[in-house]
Amino acid sequence: MPSGVSFFFAKNGKDEYLTGNIRTTKDTKSAKNCFVLQVITFQRNEAMKQIEVGLGDRAYPIFVQEGLLADIGADLKERKIGKRYVIIADDRVAELYGQAVVVSLEAVGLACDLITFPRGEENKNLTTIAGLTSRLAQLGVDRKDCLIALGGGVSGDITGFVAAIYMRGIPFVQIPTTLLAQVDSSVGGKTGVDIPEGKNLVGCFYQPRAVYIDSTVLQSLPPEELLNGLAEVIKYGVIYDADFFYFLNAHREKIQALDLSVMEDVILRCCSIKAEVVEADEREADLRRILNYGHTLGHAVEAESHFTIAHGMAVAMGMVAVNKIAVAQGILMAETAGEITDLISSFGLPTTIPPELNRQQMKEFLKTDKKTVAGKPFFVLPIAIGTVIITDDVDDAIIDGALNNF
Ligand code: NAD
Repeated sequence: MPSGVSFFFAKNGKDEYLTGNIRTTKDTKSAKNCFVLQVITFQRNEAMKQIEVGLGDRAYPIFVQEGLLADIGADLKERKIGKRYVIIADDRVAELYGQAVVVSLEAVGLACDLITFPRGEENKNLTTIAGLTSRLAQLGVDRKDCLIALGGGVSGDITGFVAAIYMRGIPFVQIPTTLLAQVDSSVGGKTGVDIPEGKNLVGCFYQPRAVYIDSTVLQSLPPEELLNGLAEVIKYGVIYDADFFYFLNAHREKIQALDLSVMEDVILRCCSIKAEVVEADEREADLRRILNYGHTLGHAVEAESHFTIAHGMAVAMGMVAVNKIAVAQGILMAETAGEITDLISSFGLPTTIPPELNRQQMKEFLKTDKKTVAGKPFFVLPIAIGTVIITDDVDDAIIDGALNNF
């Protein structure tokens, strides 16, 4: 055995690792050679948690790890996705995390630029797309290069769309920084922008090459943005996974306190569910429509409030309202609807639609929603926690009852 050999092996299942070294020395009494085992540290395994979105030749990994921002450069270098990289972020996220990503890439010798656009949904438009694509051309970006969407759902949707159309398509990866983006928008390949006639009306399906989720960035997220994401998190429990619903109930305090270990479990479960749904129905012909639970009504609430009510709040109100439809249709027990309402409100999300919003106008929005067919909106209705059905067979009077019942 040579002197000074370091070792690194699993000590206690998959969580704990033992590091140390072994060296040879001379026993002073006997003057014989002997081995000395020197344990240096015990440390938690910080290995990345990984999920695969199985879409054949467009499959991609989702990595979830505390502190991952620092390791992204090394992973990109190994994957060789781009010759060089352009990070696209809104001004706020660029200020908070842009440099960390630049340093991570430059530390492993990857060339990168950081370009920004003004934050906010109002900038998710074709003017921003025109500005960003011009900037890429000025930088000489070509098809061998790769874009990095750094930020919330707005950055992800914009960057994904730019990646899909610039030079007829260049690769991109996602680094989502809001809870909503980490559990929802960064996975599944929907990209696009708003036009004056409606939200997300221009866009396409274009999958990222990898998604990197660092839970620590949630610590700088304003509380209202956390709530936006939590509405989507609860959605997954109701539509797909009763165990997850009860996990959320049991871990509510830790989630609200942003315990990162619990948050990672939450993010992983949401991404797994989204990945399974997208694998089964990438282009939203069928199963993927279950992700719209609470959203059709939620969009009507958002629109009628002139977008003064945030997306997550509107989705929370929408979920409670469609549950009332399900109860009125006789397919959901009132007690179960009550359990869902209790979980939603225990996180501090609203459960009633403000009375001042015009119900008739909301019904008009329902009829013209981009997912409505022939003026008949469809609803995703729970029949139990973890199971939903999709139907457009709901009487007007029942919709009225759900909207007016506050
Ligand atoms: P966002 O991207 O505008 O982010 C919200 C705000 O949080 C912004 O001001 C941003 O600067 C700030 N922010 C982001 N990360 C931060 C951090 N870690 N710390 C501090 N501040 C931070 O909005 P969003 O809620 O993430 O996403 C909403 C968008 O996502 C909408 O445009 C919606 O249409 C889209 N969306 C897309 C999909 C999809 O499948 N593509 C799904 C759901 C929603």
